[in-house]
Amino acid sequence: MTRPLALRRPRSGRPGLPARRTWSGGHAWSPAREARPESVPELADVVGAAAQAGLRVKPIGAGHSFSPIAATDGVQLDLSALSGLSAVDREGGRVRVLAGTPLHQLGPLLGAHGLALANMGDIDRQSVGGALSTATHGTGLGFTGYGGMVTGLRLVTADGAVRWADADHEPDLFQAARVGLGALGIITEVELRTVPAFLLHARERSEPLDAVVESFVERSRAADHLEFSWFPGTDLALTKENTRLPLTAGIDPVDPVRTAVMDEFLSNGVFGGMCRLGARAPRLVPLLNQVSARGVDQRTYTDVSYRVFVAERAVRFREMEYAVPLERFEEAFAGLRRIAAERAAAGDAVSFPVEVRTVAADDVWLSTAHGRESAYLAVHRYHREDPTAYFAAAEELLVSLGGRPHWGKEHDRDAEWAARAYPRFADFTAQRDAVDPGRVFANPYLERVLGA
Ligand SMILES: Cc1cc2nc3c(=O)[nH]c(=O)nc-3n(C[C@H](O)[C@H](O)[C@H](O)COP(=O)(O)OP(=O)(O)OC[C@H]3O[C@@H](n4cnc5c(N)ncnc54)[C@H](O)[C@@H]3O)c2cc1C
Repeated sequence: MTRPLALRRPRSGRPGLPARRTWSGGHAWSPAREARPESVPELADVVGAAAQAGLRVKPIGAGHSFSPIAATDGVQLDLSALSGLSAVDREGGRVRVLAGTPLHQLGPLLGAHGLALANMGDIDRQSVGGALSTATHGTGLGFTGYGGMVTGLRLVTADGAVRWADADHEPDLFQAARVGLGALGIITEVELRTVPAFLLHARERSEPLDAVVESFVERSRAADHLEFSWFPGTDLALTKENTRLPLTAGIDPVDPVRTAVMDEFLSNGVFGGMCRLGARAPRLVPLLNQVSARGVDQRTYTDVSYRVFVAERAVRFREMEYAVPLERFEEAFAGLRRIAAERAAAGDAVSFPVEVRTVAADDVWLSTAHGRESAYLAVHRYHREDPTAYFAAAEELLVSLGGRPHWGKEHDRDAEWAARAYPRFADFTAQRDAVDPGRVFANPYLERVLGA
């Protein structure tokens, strides 16, 4: 029998204000109730009882999605108590990790066993469950996003049942839940394929933009992990290339004083000040972008992988990111250059860079890289600026090139579009119908992108 629902009212900062908002501040909502289950049985009770009470349920990880994918007017589940490694098979390279584990804890936890994630995105604040659910990715044509590293997972479904899914056992649920958008149930534990721990040698520098764009695909094939950022209106690309090395190569971390200066400039105080200034005086943005692009010095360093993949992002922004087929990259980038120039001409110059990355194709049903090598192009706007016109123009362009939006970032696509863009979309929604017929895990975002 289900125990009575032990849910608390959300603690709002101030009366009348939404209790929850996304990291960027772009979306806010007020759940009716919150719960922080400390075990899987407790979690299953909460889901079962919420469903019986007619409340919808939505887990939240670190709240780092830009889209309102984690919003709910029902029960918001904080999974931070379900954290840590639950099993390690060092020889086989397989680990099991609880889904509430933050990625910044996972790196050191795996490192203690001589293991590492094969690739990571550019921050590590996300939870494992949240990162998987939106198809979070890093860069490198030899590597998939996090969804491609999953070999099994445990879910609590709408009926309160706890189910294990992998390639042999409930294979359709497994394929759907590897990038599940939070629509199928609450992931409690994930089995991941890892690699032996390794170092990364990073080389960051500014290079002529046109040459980088022309050679980007070829260079991405040769490099382990290549990405670049471009401040609109400038002719420089800030490239970061990471090369994998064995642990025996030895670390050579960045000089802490220099790092502080660079990080302060690139992602924190100085850059934040320039964005604030640009928001108040848009006509200064082109000049500020020249300063930003030229203020970046070359630096090289070598450290353990999870310290090199990620950076701190202290200046808040909103973001839209599309995965286009790799062969459409140059057209896509040229289009974004044109759009940024149009915004500048309209007195709305963009102060945040465009970021470009790549990933390998995978077979995960709703992965943005499903079935094709992809170039990811991300547009950003300082959080105090209105992103509407810039993002709408970028979205129209990137959709016309066959792009698919990151599920955790801003976009305007709907289920009708998704059914055309994802060959296994109908299989996904069939799984959703099977495990959540009453739509306990629905919210307005999922109704838009998956259907009611
Ligand atoms: C500064 C910044 C940098 C970023 N960098 C990158 C990057 O480099 N690459 C990239 O691809 N993305 C990036 N993102 C996007 C981010 O990785 C995703 O939006 C990710 O989903 C956030 O993880 P989270 O733990 O905050 O999830 P949340 O935003 O809290 O939740 C995301 C979704 O997952 C669901 N969910 C969470 N936990 C579970 C669970 N256990 N079971 C089922 N569903 C669950 C939620 O209900 C929600 O639907 C970045 C975001 C920010 C703010």
